[in-house]
Amino acid sequence: MMLYSESLTSYKRLKTREVTIGNLRLGNGHPIRVQTMTTTDTMDTHATVEQTIRCIEAGAELVRITAPSRKEAENLQNIKDELHKRGYHVPLVADIHFTPNAAEIAARIVEKVRVNPGNYVDKKKFEQIEYTDAEYAEEIERIRERFTPLVRICREHGTAMRIGTNHGSLSDRIMSRYGDTAIGMVESAMEFLRIARDEDYHNIVLSMKSSNPQVMVQAYRLLVQHMMQEFGECYPLHLGVTEAGDGEDGRIKSAIGIGTLLEDGIGDTIRVSLTEDPEFEIPVCRDLVKRYAGRAGTGNDEQGMMNREQGTGNGDAAFNIQHSTFNIPFTYGAVPDIKQLPYSPFEYRRRDTYPVGNIGGKQVPVVVADLSRISSITPQHLQSIGYTYDTATDKWTISDSAADYIFTGNQLLNFALPGTLKLIAYPATWEESGDNSHYYPIFSDKGYLEAAARHPQMNFVMIDCFNDLTPVNDFSFLDDLGNDPTVVLCLSSTNLNALQSVRRMFMELGNRGLRNPVILMTDSHWQTPDEHLIHFSAETGGLLLDGFGDGLSLGYGAAAGLDTTRVSGRTYLPVSDIHQFTNNTAFSILQATRTRISKTEYISCPSCGRTLFDLQETTARIRAVTNHLKGVKIAIMGCIVNGPGEMADADFGYVGSGPGKITLYKGKEIVKRNVDSEVAVDELITLLKENDAWVEPSVK
Ligand code: SF4
Repeated sequence: MMLYSESLTSYKRLKTREVTIGNLRLGNGHPIRVQTMTTTDTMDTHATVEQTIRCIEAGAELVRITAPSRKEAENLQNIKDELHKRGYHVPLVADIHFTPNAAEIAARIVEKVRVNPGNYVDKKKFEQIEYTDAEYAEEIERIRERFTPLVRICREHGTAMRIGTNHGSLSDRIMSRYGDTAIGMVESAMEFLRIARDEDYHNIVLSMKSSNPQVMVQAYRLLVQHMMQEFGECYPLHLGVTEAGDGEDGRIKSAIGIGTLLEDGIGDTIRVSLTEDPEFEIPVCRDLVKRYAGRAGTGNDEQGMMNREQGTGNGDAAFNIQHSTFNIPFTYGAVPDIKQLPYSPFEYRRRDTYPVGNIGGKQVPVVVADLSRISSITPQHLQSIGYTYDTATDKWTISDSAADYIFTGNQLLNFALPGTLKLIAYPATWEESGDNSHYYPIFSDKGYLEAAARHPQMNFVMIDCFNDLTPVNDFSFLDDLGNDPTVVLCLSSTNLNALQSVRRMFMELGNRGLRNPVILMTDSHWQTPDEHLIHFSAETGGLLLDGFGDGLSLGYGAAAGLDTTRVSGRTYLPVSDIHQFTNNTAFSILQATRTRISKTEYISCPSCGRTLFDLQETTARIRAVTNHLKGVKIAIMGCIVNGPGEMADADFGYVGSGPGKITLYKGKEIVKRNVDSEVAVDELITLLKENDAWVEPSVK
């Protein structure tokens, strides 16, 4: 094992213990299971059964239902009986926070219980208490006393358990010793896991969720490392990004966190938490999982590889999703082994680079829009990538998510450009332009080394990392390119293990002390909008989270005539403009990895049986009036029991505190209690104004 993964150069599932959840087996190489959680009131048996069935029919292999108190836990029996009566036997999971009594009832009824170690025994008071070693040990004993009965019930009834840590709800004890950190999350779960192991109970799954994909990824990696060090084995892992929000942003945030780990073979079951109806989470889960069906080590390589080449990307016949047929030049080029990792995968540190123009150094990553397929680029085309031209005033308006560069291929533009925009073209076209202040050439690695003419300030050089043509272990060309003060490297890979290939090239740059800035170039050959979003997010997000990349360029395959409908038939992401789609996706990936902030960030819970208002509608209303507040983080949470803890590092919180009542937060502090929901959005705006977080929206 390399630190936290079976392999960092090829796809290989992490070996985990096998867990049985009713009739379902999880871990130990079984397929990655997809799951979701109901949003209905658990006491409403009919509504919960109906929603559970919709989730099962969408493909959920496990369905979680909240059990906030004894009466909901007891009603799980009615829900389960009705489902069985109607022929549905998918395992149910009871979601528990704060109420051991409810857990002990539920564990006798359903196939799995989820406990949150941050609040199973402790009630969070946000107090920074100093614990002596003796006091700390006493607390652990108190947990053992309270938690052991549940462990014994689970063992006796064959019930599985998830120890589900959330970044936002760590206990005061953990916070006092480890702070709000990934290692604190790991220790929070390990305390409970040790108690369960002492009882010889192993039917356990673990999770380390956060709304920040960076924290989430680090916590899972650390957990794997700690389990291996302490027990010599790993328990299965349930992956998820909490409070990811809705729409494209929710999908992107989830795909970055979950996809980064899946790329390294980590994860036995996944849940994508969206502020949407739960059945709409399942196609996103399946789009994520099917990417790995054909990778080496999954046991169905040939079928999966064949399907991916045909554009189905799907090695599992159960996933009956239609795609058009097209050919993708993927290869299985060998990625050289890693002897030593020249960076820490457990903390974020941006790779050290020198600046070339506005790329690299301490500058935010740039976005390069590929307009090379437009036969004749006009000012109107630039509107798709954030530049709006007004003929009357002869002025450009530039949005916060305007691309920094456009790639024009062999095309010279015949109009004056907005001041901040620069062009990248093939060498002959650049030479023909005779314009070194707007045009920059892009070469192949060999082409650059042999070029008769080069730009005096900035040259882009493409490297396709570890495809089957690259002579493995021959990196001599890098020495010629490396540390040329004008060279920006553009790394891409047509290797099936593309992320691993590009990451391996970063290691090679690091080993050779090369500090050239790098643009990550990722092409997608998938078809639906969700598949594209997930592909771009997983392949580039995983690199950005490790501090790699000074820019992004997202491209699309020849067959990307994007479908505007989702698998469910519901239209979510109508894509009439591929350039706008890729540009917005690039900015959203940078935002979700917190490497470049260009818009408001929303942290909204997926809602559940505790939710006290229509979360989807309220989120849309708040988004409509605040989406011009660049960099402000607003949390919209369904209940006051878990909401404040789970909203992590939001600047402001809008939290349901009773029927028709909202409590507003600034950070973790309550500032307006029980506001009438009719006026709560206006009150939120007032709060933003009082805290200098508000600007008037520009009139369009
Ligand atoms: S914060 Fe949202 S998802 Fe979490 S318990 Fe409350 S209502 Fe349910």
